[in-house]
Amino acid sequence: MLDGFVPWPVEFASRYRSLGYWRGETLDAALRRYGSAFGDSAAVVDSDRSWTYSELDAEVDHYAAGLHALGIRPRDRVVVQLPNRGEFIAVMYALLRVGAIPVFALPAHRAAEITHFVDSTDAVAYVTADVIDGFDHRELARAVRGQTGNLRHVIIFGDAAEFIPLDSLRQQPIEHPTADPSDVAILLLSGGTTGLPKFVARTHDDWAYSGRAVAAACSYDATTRHMVCLPLGHNWTLTHGLLATFDVGGTLILAESPDPGITFDLIERHRVTDTGLVPGVALVWVELAPGGSADLSSLRRVVIGGSKLPLELARRVEPALGCQLHQAFGMAEGLCGFQDSDEDLETRLHAQGRPVSPDDELLIVDHYGNPVPAGEIGELLTRGPYTVRGYFRGGVHNRTSFTDNGFYRTGDLVRLLPNGQVVFEGRVKDQINRGGEKIAAEEVENHLLAHPAVRDAALIGVPDEILGERSCAVLVPHGAAPEQPEIARFLTERGIAAYKIPDLIRIADTLPRTAIGKVDKKKLRQEEVTR
Ligand code: AMP
Repeated sequence: MLDGFVPWPVEFASRYRSLGYWRGETLDAALRRYGSAFGDSAAVVDSDRSWTYSELDAEVDHYAAGLHALGIRPRDRVVVQLPNRGEFIAVMYALLRVGAIPVFALPAHRAAEITHFVDSTDAVAYVTADVIDGFDHRELARAVRGQTGNLRHVIIFGDAAEFIPLDSLRQQPIEHPTADPSDVAILLLSGGTTGLPKFVARTHDDWAYSGRAVAAACSYDATTRHMVCLPLGHNWTLTHGLLATFDVGGTLILAESPDPGITFDLIERHRVTDTGLVPGVALVWVELAPGGSADLSSLRRVVIGGSKLPLELARRVEPALGCQLHQAFGMAEGLCGFQDSDEDLETRLHAQGRPVSPDDELLIVDHYGNPVPAGEIGELLTRGPYTVRGYFRGGVHNRTSFTDNGFYRTGDLVRLLPNGQVVFEGRVKDQINRGGEKIAAEEVENHLLAHPAVRDAALIGVPDEILGERSCAVLVPHGAAPEQPEIARFLTERGIAAYKIPDLIRIADTLPRTAIGKVDKKKLRQEEVTR
């Protein structure tokens, strides 16, 4: 087992195996199987080209040979930050074929985050593209290289400058030893509430099962044509998009942006049947689809999740897009829930989904950890065949984020409906959900406190019609108060992703405190809402 991974207790592991959830097949072996089972069917279509299942499998062999030649070995960690292109998928599977572990970063991450990912996972290589969304990632690679000691290789998709061109890794295939399916396959970033993001280690067995369970929950079959238009390096897009679609031999269409100017055309051209959106993107689609000329009639389902879908927006989805609205929820730590086509409209409008495995255990507890009466709101705790038992190298955090008997404390306030659907009602954890992008308040507060004019800082979420929440920094200055553009400049220079930069700045003389001296964020939020 990879050092730092928290395994399931033996009795649970045997149960999950005997029930057929864990099949003892690596993700890379599954791709090999798809290569022969679905051979000539289209596996991936991106803005440039397409790959059949057998072409993809062969492509992965070439890249795996090049990665091996570079010295990438089993269990080596490799940070992957690529756009939604076929190369993302080829690199992911090539790393798995070598036995190495992809660590997924999002295109929005900058030097502070990538350096942390490299350092905290001891990554030996970093794979990114020359330019993503107008930002030069070679500059980013130079900054990361200057700040971290471990990184041996930087591999660039596109114009590589002084780095290793991804293309040069396409070499003559070789044999690779098979990895242990119960060992760690990938590292996902947790949404997180602590100073620095933590990593979620998912095994071949558990992650593959979640993909299969999602495919079943969404009734996928070989006619499924799923478009991924949110970043691929996220558990939701990877399981609901890639793993579930490949499991049934469907086709994955990759869009580099959710912008209707790009996606509506792709839906029409590739007869897309399924896609996943966050509420902010859904709003733009709902506004633009009715007046547009694109033919969206191939869409069967649009799945919306990542943050709470406002009811008024939910009601507009089906009339505007002409397909079924399904809500979903999920977390990098594992648990996810979807809806099926038989669900009545009221449920699909009001609830966020039903867990995909019969062995997902859900407890809804009060402040003291006691189960709440049926139907009441409490914090969701969960364990099951694809929910981790601890963070990778989680240390003390594992004691607070997981119970003694292995339940993950999600920090989500939910209510369970009699039909098994989960309704999300809010959060107990200190995290802002900005349109699906999670911001750990503490991480940003630490950066704010580094500003010479900031004496104290608190980051809170305030309601926003489009994003669900926007971030607001309440600052206690030393002297002259810094304004938003100055804070934005300072945080950008510190190399943090743009979505973490506070949308609003408020200035205060002091921060309100609770009885035990914590910053009273509830009060700050109330003040902000009633302004
Ligand atoms: P991540 O690990 O980035 O996928 O974030 C997981 C968190 O996103 C969950 O713990 C929830 O707080 C939030 N989340 C995901 N889906 C939904 C949804 N449909 N409604 C409300 N919150 C959601």
